[in-house]
Amino acid sequence: MLICSLMSYQLIVTIMQCKRINTIKHLRLILLLSLFFLFFSCHVTKADDDMEVNDGPYIFKNNQELEVNWLCQSAVVSLKVSVSKLPIYFDQCNLNMLIDRDTFLTDEVVYQGDYKVAAASDFHGQYDLMKTLLINNKIIDEKGDWAFGNGHFIITGDVFDRGDKVTEILWFLYELEKQAELAGGKLHLLLGNHEVMVLNGDLRYLHPKYVETSRLFEQSFEKLYGKNTVLGAWLRSKSVLVKVNDMLFAHGGFHPSLAIEKRTLADINQVFKTNLVKAELAQPREGWGKYLHKKYGPIWYRGYFKKDDGASDQEIDLLLKHFDISHLVVGHTSQKQVETRHQGKVIAIDSSIKNGEYGELLLIDGNKKWRGTLTGEKVVLD
Ligand code: CA
Repeated sequence: MLICSLMSYQLIVTIMQCKRINTIKHLRLILLLSLFFLFFSCHVTKADDDMEVNDGPYIFKNNQELEVNWLCQSAVVSLKVSVSKLPIYFDQCNLNMLIDRDTFLTDEVVYQGDYKVAAASDFHGQYDLMKTLLINNKIIDEKGDWAFGNGHFIITGDVFDRGDKVTEILWFLYELEKQAELAGGKLHLLLGNHEVMVLNGDLRYLHPKYVETSRLFEQSFEKLYGKNTVLGAWLRSKSVLVKVNDMLFAHGGFHPSLAIEKRTLADINQVFKTNLVKAELAQPREGWGKYLHKKYGPIWYRGYFKKDDGASDQEIDLLLKHFDISHLVVGHTSQKQVETRHQGKVIAIDSSIKNGEYGELLLIDGNKKWRGTLTGEKVVLD
């Protein structure tokens, strides 16, 4: 209210100072416009004031103490607990979760075994749609618990941005990862460009709710995911790629140069991760580390979907041979459903969940592959 009043006052002063305005008629018009501006701006500000945010927890680690913060109806609720008290079940402002660990091992990049595999991508804050998709395809049960046994479920990035339930997805996956491990299965959360953008303070795609979260905590949003936070540390432990049996997964994809230069998966992952957050680097990104974070790197590449300057069939074959795989599985480039390109060698799994209306996942059992639809129908993948 104060800001909009000041702005209106400034507008009136500015116009009154204009020497050409010297008639009553103009003065009336100016006053009318000013009042309109005052009403409009105050109305907009009022709407912002009314935005009540429930969000969290954002957990900061300070040696052996955890500072746990929520927003409950836009009020900051905070408490401190010792790490030695973990696991702790929290239930605040309708946000409940079990926090059972604050340190994380770095994932492997190659897995081989006789188990089912499923993959989905680009949830973009669509928590409810994501859960419906996972329940109907039996990755989780009705309660939201892991139901995929010893299967491996891969999410090829972009949990962040666009939607308004990013925090819910992150804590859900944090819990699901543990459940999968206990069942002998595995949840792989890979980094997408939106994870890397947020960690680096590129906040262009934040939902307004998280702009408000940041304002209420008086912290830049990326600091809420700093390396001294539980989720920030968890995200920094994640890989940018994973090979499971004869399939290689990444958010965007692999440029043919990686095969030509005979780069290994371990090297790609390690160099990408070493250059993850610019503010945490001793020196600016350069050379190959910089290249991997640009448009031809694994989180941004769209070359499998471009006719002109994209990857040719021969280059796809080169990638498959070099990485010793049969399929490249990628998100990032949105489709209506799970689809294939390059005679089935590329599988596109960004099924536009970001729109909040529909989504699919990829299901694999041995040599068989299906689209898992939102209702749980299994359709053989062409
Ligand atoms: Ca993306």
